[in-house]
Amino acid sequence: MSGQILPRWRRWANASTNWFDTGPLNPSREDAALPEIPDRVEWARIVPFIAVHATCIGVIWVGWSPIAVLVAVTAYFVRMFAITGFYHRYFSHRSFKTSRVGQFIFGLLGASAVQRGPLWWAAHHRHHHAHSDKPEDAHSPVQYGFIRSHMGWFLTARGFRPDLYRVRDLMQFPELRWLDRFDTLIPVALAVFMFALGALLERLAPGLGTSGGQMLVWGFFISTVACYHGTYTINSLSHVFGCQRYRTGDASRNNWLLALITLGEGWHNNHHHFPSSARQGFYWWEIDITYYILKFMSWLGIIWDLKPVPIVIRDHSPRRIA
Ligand SMILES: [Zn+2]
Ligand SMILES: [Zn+2]
Repeated sequence: MSGQILPRWRRWANASTNWFDTGPLNPSREDAALPEIPDRVEWARIVPFIAVHATCIGVIWVGWSPIAVLVAVTAYFVRMFAITGFYHRYFSHRSFKTSRVGQFIFGLLGASAVQRGPLWWAAHHRHHHAHSDKPEDAHSPVQYGFIRSHMGWFLTARGFRPDLYRVRDLMQFPELRWLDRFDTLIPVALAVFMFALGALLERLAPGLGTSGGQMLVWGFFISTVACYHGTYTINSLSHVFGCQRYRTGDASRNNWLLALITLGEGWHNNHHHFPSSARQGFYWWEIDITYYILKFMSWLGIIWDLKPVPIVIRDHSPRRIA
């Protein structure tokens, strides 16, 4: 229970268990992100997060090759799409439909970006929309500044626990609850795959100049860190820099540069104005690569019923704020 004071060693033991098993999920109010859960950084639990960053220094020893950089860039964009297209537009906002198998595969792909499971992600994101830039909004830069909105908010004990009450619709799927509990398995499998790919290429195509260690550092660690901080900019910078077309009552902005980095998420003021749309770039000149891919997937029949942007919502003239 959150109210109990445990010995320091017990707290470290419990927190390090969470590296592999985030614990059973209980959709009751007791398990929600309640104010009494400590809002301080949980150092034992975030050791892997720090290690993922530190391991990038390994590039000094493993070097680089064009194939390793190409794989890293590909892994960045595939996983960024999984976050924006699936964790955000599907699990958080249900802006299109798919099959149950498709839903689980989308969850697996999202988990490969090492941003926890789909229930955790969606629960916190729905909370953000319910309290945007109010004191309850854990990652509002207006309330708490850059560092906390960028990454500090999920390093705390409170950030670790999602308000599962907000994702009751997703909690009915046992496979999603399983994925959310053991989400670490997916990135571990990806890391093993990257090492094996590099080792295989070293043996079969030595001219490419890569190795298991090199592909692990570039294909997994560097691309993961880039994907991390690209995603985080939407919480931190997209509520500070850019234009505000709609009076949404929060500080969300439209920012073309962040939209390119995040495959469309930078049209954040549009999104706050009409969150349930599958499309975030409301006009043809607002490049929204995630939407183009989702549209293509709908032509293939993998997803369907993409929610459109109502004409009445698009019909506003832009208003520059910053
Ligand atoms: Zn926002
Ligand atoms: Zn959203």
